Amino acid sequence: MRSPDPALTVHKFGGAALADAAAIRRVTSIVAQDPAPQKVVVASAMLGVTDELLGVAHEAASNETVGGTIDALRERHLAVLHSIGLDGRSNTPLQARLDEAFDELRHLCVEIAKGGELTPAMTDAFVAHGDRIAARLLAAALTANGTVAEFVEATDVVRADGPHGNASPDIEQTTQAAEKVLRPMIDRGVVPVVPGFIGRSPRGEVVTLGRGGSDLTATLLGRVLAARDVILWKDVPGLLTADPRVVPDARLIPVLHVREASELAYYGAKVLHPRSLIALQAGTRLIIRPYADPAAHGTEIVVERERKPATGRTRRPVKALTAIADQTLLTIAGNGMVGVPGVAARAFGALERAGVSVSLISQASSEHSICMGIPTTAANAAAAALRDAFAAELARREIDAIEVRPDLATIAVVGLGMAGTPGVAARLFGALADEGVNVVAIAQGASELNISVVVEGRDAAAAQRAIHSAFRLGKIGGGAAVHPEHADVVILGFGQIGRELATQIATHSSRASEQVQARVVAVVDRSGYVFDARGLSSKRLEALNAAKSARTPLSSVRRGVRAIAEEAIAAISAHALSRPILVDVTAGDTGSVLEAALSHGMDLVLANKRPLAGPEKDARALANAVASQGRRLLHEATVGAGLPIIDTIQKLTESGDQVLRIEGCPSGTLGYLLGEMGRGTSFSTALHSAMKHGYTEPDPRDDLSGMDVARKALILGRLIGFSGELTDVQVESLVPEPMRELPLDVFLNRLHEADEMWEQRVREARDHRTVLRYRATVTKREARVGIVAVDASSSLASLAGTDNHFSFTTRRYRANPLVITGPGAGAAVTAAGVLNDVLKLAGTR
Ligand code: ADP
Ligand code: ASP
Ligand code: MG
Repeated sequence: MRSPDPALTVHKFGGAALADAAAIRRVTSIVAQDPAPQKVVVASAMLGVTDELLGVAHEAASNETVGGTIDALRERHLAVLHSIGLDGRSNTPLQARLDEAFDELRHLCVEIAKGGELTPAMTDAFVAHGDRIAARLLAAALTANGTVAEFVEATDVVRADGPHGNASPDIEQTTQAAEKVLRPMIDRGVVPVVPGFIGRSPRGEVVTLGRGGSDLTATLLGRVLAARDVILWKDVPGLLTADPRVVPDARLIPVLHVREASELAYYGAKVLHPRSLIALQAGTRLIIRPYADPAAHGTEIVVERERKPATGRTRRPVKALTAIADQTLLTIAGNGMVGVPGVAARAFGALERAGVSVSLISQASSEHSICMGIPTTAANAAAAALRDAFAAELARREIDAIEVRPDLATIAVVGLGMAGTPGVAARLFGALADEGVNVVAIAQGASELNISVVVEGRDAAAAQRAIHSAFRLGKIGGGAAVHPEHADVVILGFGQIGRELATQIATHSSRASEQVQARVVAVVDRSGYVFDARGLSSKRLEALNAAKSARTPLSSVRRGVRAIAEEAIAAISAHALSRPILVDVTAGDTGSVLEAALSHGMDLVLANKRPLAGPEKDARALANAVASQGRRLLHEATVGAGLPIIDTIQKLTESGDQVLRIEGCPSGTLGYLLGEMGRGTSFSTALHSAMKHGYTEPDPRDDLSGMDVARKALILGRLIGFSGELTDVQVESLVPEPMRELPLDVFLNRLHEADEMWEQRVREARDHRTVLRYRATVTKREARVGIVAVDASSSLASLAGTDNHFSFTTRRYRANPLVITGPGAGAAVTAAGVLNDVLKLAGTR
């Protein structure tokens, strides 16, 4: 039956695609640009027209005057005609046809009013005009644009049977009609333009295929003509993970299995007519594509099943969700039903005879009750049919009652991989419980393709958003039932500490006996970023380390992306990451990047002092953002590198103690420098060696100026109640006045100019049996940092290398302060401090 070549495309344009003249012009160019040698176009009524026609028909039935509305509809169509330039002489027949259609509509209104009742047959005959008029208009517009196109009456091609308003196509008869009517046209190179939604019944009447029926017309024609592609042109990028009007972060699904798409359509996804996929068959691709971006991929609905991974379980079993509003639950309950066969069958039989379609069935294994979800519009008829069918049981009290519960909605979670994947239901109900949504009924099909829950109608939107976010359907790679336990780390700043941290995380996870606790998914520098949602392997990190050490920016390495940090965060966050953490190991003003990370759901770990030691209002804003987003921020490495300083203050405070004063040497850099000079090394040599060991900030004047220590003092101060700015910290700078503003390289070249002054200062101290230390003193009221000469026998004097020293005077440790001493500078200990925070957040410490 298939004739594969030449390729034929069926294009379907819905209401939105035909909203106005501009939209219609766009449609004509889409058709013109399709390279397929054979084309068929299906058109639905223009935007909102079917609804308006239905309204008019109802008004006519209740004897209201409708002439004005019909005139307005006519004007709207004429205006489009005019603005496409179809009102010239050559289009007189088209204008005549439009006039005929509107005369006919007026005539039908008189008939309806006379009959005093709107029959389904009349409704069909009435609304069918909307799609017909649009198709005529489109055919003329296509012709005017150079496409050889002709309008074809849908009733000459589409044969359908079943109830008015919801008829089903007859494939065999439609095939015959299409071969007779459409095929010769197509073979002649003509593009037939067929109104969607409409068919002809065996009685010769116009029937409609149900709301949104032009989707079905398109797949039907695709099938009977063995089309290669059926393209439904929509106002959305394709089929999305949820209704975008309800769930704003719904995402495009690039490929979807036909069974999944059917399920979504059946359970209310407006984007596809519920029965449109029945007509699809292997060999034809069904594509949903945005008319606003004709080159976009859109969604392809495939008949072949997606390959499963070797484990037999799909990692991302959940594809999408949808909802049907205005549902009513009918419950047949009673003790007399237990063990009695045939109750369900009789119930469904009765509902079928009443023409009610059941969206959901649920029966507890006790068989005490059966409940069924049906459209509220059918509730009265359905309840009456059941009462009738079970009249005898009701009289004998074997059935207590037929309960009717309106104002509900059915939400369906859909995905082929749900079969055999544990945890889907748990996550679904967990999400609803967290949102405070009460579940009225539950059903899971045996195919496990779908889990449906019935909720109160007013909860439906919140429930959809909660489920969508629980399965992270808004993210690339979302849809997993069980989320991994490890943390995905994004390293901001790939200098010495960043590279050391990457190595430490990789080493840690290769050593960890249980599961991986943390992995690096991205590294970001000033130029751009490198990202892999599966984690960057140790080998890859090594290569990146090497590239960065050779001064290659990340944007220039293989698969590096050029971007500013905020863009990098946004791009990375589009993926379904596990407990994402942004680690800031830069020395820059990263406030806006941190804010972006928080808003994308990342926790923060800072080694960068600036965001916490800047203006107090910024530091407070950051803390507020962390709190309001329910995120966490750790920054142990901002003070004392890996030493547990912040942690100690927090533990003391949490246990009811109060830190009154912190005093110490929080600069490993200056400690090292003063120590080396104390041993007779010159200032310039000592500084160069500190830089070589990675003990200094990128510009060593940040250390020498005392500003780095001042920032630490401010961070500590803010933790114990000091309210002030960096300018309120008294700072003694070790950079000679004339050298403060020099460019870095000039400054480094002229370091030796300060050697003599330092030699003298160190000698003087030694003469007084003291040593020089750079000390910070912080209380609630003041913060100051500067050089002091301490007694050669004191504990501060005995600090060696990059050792830091902190003493905490608290209410409990008043006479004898609590002291923490240890190495406080260098990439290794700083990275270790960061790693510790990361692991804490990852939940393993
Ligand atoms: P047409 O113009 O072809 O008749 P519809 O308006 O019937 O198109 O369908 C498109 C609309 O469906 C979108 O504008 C969107 O609001 C709605 N919709 C509901 N669920 C989804 C979904 N899962 N994916 C895409 N769109 C959806
Ligand atoms: N015009 C019809 C309706 O609004 C068919 C369609 O749009 O697909 O339902
Ligand atoms: Mg539609």
